[in-house]
Amino acid sequence: MTTIHLTLEEAHDLASKCLLVNGCDEENARAAADRMIQAEGDLCHSHGLFRLPWYCGAVKSGRANGKARPRIEQLAPAVIRVDGDGGFAPLGQAIAHQPLVDCARTNGIASLALVNMFHIAAMWPEVERLALDGLCGFAFTPSYPYVAPAGGIKPVYGTNPMGFSWPRQDKPPLVFDQAASSMARGEIMICARDGHPVPETAGIGPDGEPTTDPNVVLQGAQLGFGGYKGAALALMVELLAGALIGDFLSIESFEDDAGEGGPPKGGEFMIAIDPARHGDPKGFLAHGEKLFEAVLAQEGTRLPGSRRFENRQKTAEAGIDIPASLHRDILDLL
Ligand code: NDP
Repeated sequence: MTTIHLTLEEAHDLASKCLLVNGCDEENARAAADRMIQAEGDLCHSHGLFRLPWYCGAVKSGRANGKARPRIEQLAPAVIRVDGDGGFAPLGQAIAHQPLVDCARTNGIASLALVNMFHIAAMWPEVERLALDGLCGFAFTPSYPYVAPAGGIKPVYGTNPMGFSWPRQDKPPLVFDQAASSMARGEIMICARDGHPVPETAGIGPDGEPTTDPNVVLQGAQLGFGGYKGAALALMVELLAGALIGDFLSIESFEDDAGEGGPPKGGEFMIAIDPARHGDPKGFLAHGEKLFEAVLAQEGTRLPGSRRFENRQKTAEAGIDIPASLHRDILDLL
């Protein structure tokens, strides 16, 4: 594959310019570009510049608000809600971060409901940021109905990612961020683009039959990871980040799009916990490390998030390579 080399600054400039030209204001463009370039820097390409045409298309078509002004409300002493004003999630998250941290420190635990916005990013940045402030974080968001319920063949659930973070002293936080589907949809799309097969566990065709053809999976249904267990987690995410916070389920988000092919509109539910206000305020960090040591003592193991942190160190200086075809698509957007 022919690639184009960019520094992270160049990639950020390119993304920002594209978003501005296609209808975002400075603040919204910066928040969305920050998020895509964080993903590129950690070599999570399916949430990097690959998403830029989707962001730009949604603003250009008027489906997403590129000049959104998210509004914060306190619904209860430990419950914050942000109305994203129809914009992209990163700006609402950035605005809500400090109030969520303050609220968790005051109450020991706090939740944040982000509604009326588009979340098409990886979830580790929002939970990682909480752990960098010494908190333990959870985040959940639905998407479009791509995943069949256990035993079924028609998609009902989104790929429904969930992120979790735990603070560490003098080390990057422990962060995992995973879809409830066996494979992230962006990864299946990249396999389709590059002509690679997907594992049989990724999904089924419209007839319910197993397949390794990414295009057939995209027409049919993805599968939850670990059979009915992943499907149950996808169901939980629909309830928490849909029904609980009064925003769309994945099936409702799809109806709302009405075939336009834009990004899924919906909500995100986050929980922040202050470990210093729980059972072992002095010992919890060392106690967590005991667990990590036991994991890492075994050959072949690593902690979730470690791949990204290593990549981040490399790309900060070395920059990134993106497919020439994606670079051309981005220049077309300009
Ligand atoms: P992966 O299966 O690639 O990784 C899931 C988690 O497992 C990561 O935290 C990863 O850490 C960790 N991990 C992977 N391999 C190992 C290992 N051998 N040992 C220990 N930990 C490991 O992610 P998914 O494909 O499930 O999801 C990809 C992304 O897609 C996520 O960022 C998710 O948020 C995003 N997504 C976003 C959606 C949206 O609508 N906004 C919808 C669906 C998905 P590491 O990162 O270090 O590899």
